[in-house]
Parts: sequence; structure tokens; C-alpha cells
Amino acid sequence: MKISNFFDLQHVNGKPVYIVDDHHKVLAAWDMERRKLESAPFLLTIDHHTDTDDAFASYCCIAGYEDPSIDQDALAKKLLAAVDWRNDSSIEAAIQNLRHDEHINAATKTGILAPSFSIQLSDGGGWTEPNDEHVYVVPFHCAMWCKKKVYDDECVIHHAVEIIESPYLDDQVQRIGEITAALGLQKIESLPYILDIDLDVFHSMKAANPNDASTFHRLILGTVAITIATEAEWVGELWNDETNEPSSDQLLSVILGHIEEATSTNTVMVGAVRQ
Ligand SMILES: [Zn+2]
Repeated sequence: MKISNFFDLQHVNGKPVYIVDDHHKVLAAWDMERRKLESAPFLLTIDHHTDTDDAFASYCCIAGYEDPSIDQDALAKKLLAAVDWRNDSSIEAAIQNLRHDEHINAATKTGILAPSFSIQLSDGGGWTEPNDEHVYVVPFHCAMWCKKKVYDDECVIHHAVEIIESPYLDDQVQRIGEITAALGLQKIESLPYILDIDLDVFHSMKAANPNDASTFHRLILGTVAITIATEAEWVGELWNDETNEPSSDQLLSVILGHIEEATSTNTVMVGAVRQ
């Protein structure tokens, strides 16, 4: 099986956009981009979940349950060591053995990705200390205007609506800047990065249609490629929009619209320079 079978690839004004159903299949897309570059790209992911589970943990746990003589840690290490980003069949085997939330660790541990930064709605405390996993989770308080001391049920709703609003994303990007500075790296937007979006981060149609999308558009324009996981079941699970039915197809159209809008300005500018 070709690794290109794991995703649907579109080019929007020249920007590669890879679309997968289950999030862990993005490993194939990230690998395609890795092969085009001299060094591994960074990851900026926007997702409801943190997706920071250890690679192959679930597979090894089940294998260890079925055969207690199996050393689960050793098996996980062996599976990681077998991942070669230059080799299609090794990537295919890796995807078969990965479960949800394990793809980032699989990529940062095998040279497919440089450090990863997760903008997410699940862990306010985040994960900002330098670590050998090269996986960072950006902390949050709530929506920018929210002054509550305790993150409560109302916060879950008003926070999620702001996920790609410019003031909120600007604050998140600044927090990533604090992490990259501690790692001795430039700001994320000066580094080669893939922008990854799990549609389950959008709990309403409003969340995907912010009042100010300028920062989101800038992040789209600055990427080497975009990966999108449609995750239809999770979109339904986390949906809290009473006026619209959950639809990852509709969310996908909205996000492709943002990509079109963000990149078309660039095309016009390039065209103008050429003339
Ligand atoms: Zn709040």
C-alpha cells in the first residue's frame, strides 16, 4: 500500500493540504513533507485533545495483555526503531500499529518532526518544560476576557468559541514563543512548520467562523503544509452548538475556505510582482 492512500491531498493556491479521517494517519502526510525538506519541520497543531500519548502504547499494552512474557517497553522501543521516514513500508506499518493520540510522539521520536506545539482545549496547565519527547502543550487560562478563577462548565463553552479568534491565537503564539525561547529556537513563525488541525477543536460553527481570522490566516500562509483530521465522531461528541447540527464535512468546507482566503492574497501578490 502506498502511504498516499492514507490521505486526500489537495493544493489550495499551491499550499499542500492533506486530509485524513483518523488523526493518526497524518503520520503519512508529515512524512511526505519531511522528505521534501533538509531537516524535520516543526508542528503547530490545533486540536481539542493534547494527543501526547507515547507511540505504540496501546498496541504494546494489548500485546502484553495477550502474552504476559512480552516486555512492553522493549516492544515499543523496537517498533519506534523500525520507523524510517525514507521508507514507505515502515511508515505504513507504523500507522497500522498506532492508535489515537500517539502520532505526535511517533513523529518527534523518529525524526519526522522537530518539536511539536499543541494549542488545545484539554489541559490548562500545559507541558512547557524542555523534554526528551520534544512535545509541548500550550497552557491556557480561558477566553481572553474571562476573569474567572476556576475554569467551569461555562468556560468550556465560551473558551472553545474563541479557539481561532486572533487575540486568543496571538496569546497562544506568544506562549509558544516563551517555550521556543527556552529551547534556544526562533519564534515558531520563523521556523519551517506544518499546521495541523483536528476538526474536533471546533465545538460550534461560530468557532470556525471567528470575527477576526487574521492570525489564523497568517499561520496558514506561513506553513509548509496543512494537515486536517476530520474525526467526525469526535466532532459529534464535543459539539455544543444548538443552532447547527454537528458536521465535520461542513467544518472542513469552512476551513478550506479560510485556506483559500489566506493563500489567495499571496497568489495575487506573487502575480503582481511577476508582472
Ligand atoms: Zn472562562
